[in-house]
Amino acid sequence: MHGLSLERNPIDILETGKSISDVIDGKIRQLYSGSEEPFYVVNLDNILERHLQWISLLPRVKPFYAVKCNNTTAVLKMLSALDTGFDCASKAEIELALSLGVKPDDIIYAHTTKPLSHIRYACAHRVNLMTFDNEEELLKISLVHPQAKLVIRIAVDDSKSMVRLSPKFGARLPTVRQLLERARELNLEVVGVSFHVGSGCTKSSAFRQAIEDARCVFDVASFLGFQMRLLDIGGGFSKIGDFQERFEEFSQVINGSLDEFFPPVSGLEVIAEPGRYYVESAFTLAVNVIAKRVLPNHHSSLMMYYINDGVYGSMSCITFDPAHSKLEPYPHRAVKKSEPRYRSIIWGPTCDSIDKITESYWIPELYVGDWLLVDNMGAYTVSVTTDFNSFEKAHIYTVVTAETCCAPYCFASKVSLGHLKVFFEHWPLFHSFSVQ
Ligand code: PLP
Repeated sequence: MHGLSLERNPIDILETGKSISDVIDGKIRQLYSGSEEPFYVVNLDNILERHLQWISLLPRVKPFYAVKCNNTTAVLKMLSALDTGFDCASKAEIELALSLGVKPDDIIYAHTTKPLSHIRYACAHRVNLMTFDNEEELLKISLVHPQAKLVIRIAVDDSKSMVRLSPKFGARLPTVRQLLERARELNLEVVGVSFHVGSGCTKSSAFRQAIEDARCVFDVASFLGFQMRLLDIGGGFSKIGDFQERFEEFSQVINGSLDEFFPPVSGLEVIAEPGRYYVESAFTLAVNVIAKRVLPNHHSSLMMYYINDGVYGSMSCITFDPAHSKLEPYPHRAVKKSEPRYRSIIWGPTCDSIDKITESYWIPELYVGDWLLVDNMGAYTVSVTTDFNSFEKAHIYTVVTAETCCAPYCFASKVSLGHLKVFFEHWPLFHSFSVQ
């Protein structure tokens, strides 16, 4: 079996009128005096909302959710029921998607530098669509998966993105023709072009330029005799903070550029690989203050709090994800405006001093046993934890409203949700939080 977990934890039905913070309150009350384990509450309604926004704003673009971003089973299963495809980056991610019933044709193996054995695995399981950006990859694919449908990934201008990917991946435009000719010589089938403008892209013009670049590659490939039919516009979407309004603007620019460079009559299939967009705001993390030190200071006390999740656990994103470079856990309890604030350092639980969450953070005094919450913890968190010091990983509690659970159709978006209903009918559900 793959290294990724295949949990089938029950999903809680959220009673009408209850909110996610009621769920968190209820969970904390349940844990009181029993355990102080960190936990996430996942709001599946939030994921549905994002999906409906996607299909209404980007009707030509089918999302292939990037599993790397968050591989929680219920999330993947729900997205599959919403008819998204999946971007997998390894054998284990492919195995996980297939084990959840995803069809091989709904998977793109979107990694341009793959281990030979993983390509062989993809072949054995009829996962045919995969990306490449170099000649060595073509040789490996021709050896173990000659029937693959190949997508050439090009490097694009990602200088306006928080996380740049083009230094590591993507063929430069001047090298594209030679690569395509090599694919021809090897008798391989190239069907499309992909790019990724970088995670947390701040400029819609990056998409326009990338789509225009992709058009050039389509023309070269068609000239060489390939039947080009797929454009993959990658990931890089977000809707939190400054990005809230930008998603609509991005969608307009993408739709306009697609219509200009790939008019609908071309019959082109357009896909994307959104990760962050789908899950970022669906996850709230709750952590517990497990220890405290007060250091006398000449002005006021310096508080040092130690919480039970940190940089080696759910918060590793602090070290690599600019979207999370500043996490600000806030007290779960109600805080009075008049309460004095103290300069506080919040540390994670491990024995390493880089396990620090905040440096100079002014908050009211906390006590051992208090809970802190962190919002927007869905992207690049649960999938990037380590086992360092073997602290318990945050448990994941998933909730959904009865409306989402039972809705066969979304009238506002004119979308059938029949598969979603079937998914919830076959998943263990309960009402543990409704009585709190
Ligand atoms: N596709 C590929 C190939 C990636 O490398 C990534 C992220 O690194 C994604 C999709 C998802 O990107 P995002 O979370 O910015 O949407």
